[in-house]
Amino acid sequence: MPELPEVETTRRGIAPHVEGREIVEVIVRQGRLRVPVPDDFVDRLVGSRIGPLARRAKYLLIPLRTAEADTSEGAGADGVEEPSSATLLWHLGMSGSLRIARLGELPKKHDHIDLVLDDGGLLRYHDPRRFGFVDWLAGGVEQDPRLARLGPEPLSDTFDGERLYRLSRGRRMAVKPFLMDNAVVVGVGNIYAAEALFLAGIDPRRAAGRISLERYERLAVAVREVLAAAITQGGTTLRDFVSGTGEPGYFKQRLNVYGRHGQACRRCGGELRLVTLGQRASVFCIECQH
Ligand code: ZN
Repeated sequence: MPELPEVETTRRGIAPHVEGREIVEVIVRQGRLRVPVPDDFVDRLVGSRIGPLARRAKYLLIPLRTAEADTSEGAGADGVEEPSSATLLWHLGMSGSLRIARLGELPKKHDHIDLVLDDGGLLRYHDPRRFGFVDWLAGGVEQDPRLARLGPEPLSDTFDGERLYRLSRGRRMAVKPFLMDNAVVVGVGNIYAAEALFLAGIDPRRAAGRISLERYERLAVAVREVLAAAITQGGTTLRDFVSGTGEPGYFKQRLNVYGRHGQACRRCGGELRLVTLGQRASVFCIECQH
């Protein structure tokens, strides 16, 4: 499943090929995604120009300068400007991917949407399970209910151990589901929560409200480390976004605990254990994590 590092890698991979380009045609082969593709999607997009790509949590944000805005030059002598921008909110769901293809390159099964660009390239969306979606937002992205309640980005300055400490006081829930709560911090999925807790030496079952500030500071550092390592590793796959073969962008990083239950702990050699927390499988080392 695409996690924050994969979405960030996707952003970096496709950005140089789409930014500044005009969308000249939109092809929707299958619009029944998790959120159906809006009826006016094609009409709204054609003629728009793509601005600098951004990411918020696992949403890819594609700003569009609309065709109307392009033609309004010279108007508005009174200084009043019409809203000139919109944003595509793209979520890759469980199995979605975006890559760059060339005009004339035949679509494969599950290639649901093409944005055809004015240089003969196209942005192609592939999603076998169709849990992803794309939505068109007019103006204020941050006010969209899907984004408004999100916690800080884990790699930003607004995320630190003090925040984890403060938000966890009085809470009995286990620290792992606490760390995976998007209102606390975004983008820490099951893999990265398990790995960060291992690096910080914290037992995933421990009550969130009973962990010290010092240990939360170590955990915040570990969260940044595992995500940054995954993004760095993803950088080595950037060429996959423009190759005509294979699936782009998802990479295996060396994992210490995730998916390794029953195997030996890399630190102490003990057997890694499996526990279920918040309906999610969690692997940890009972010797190294307290
Ligand atoms: Zn161990």
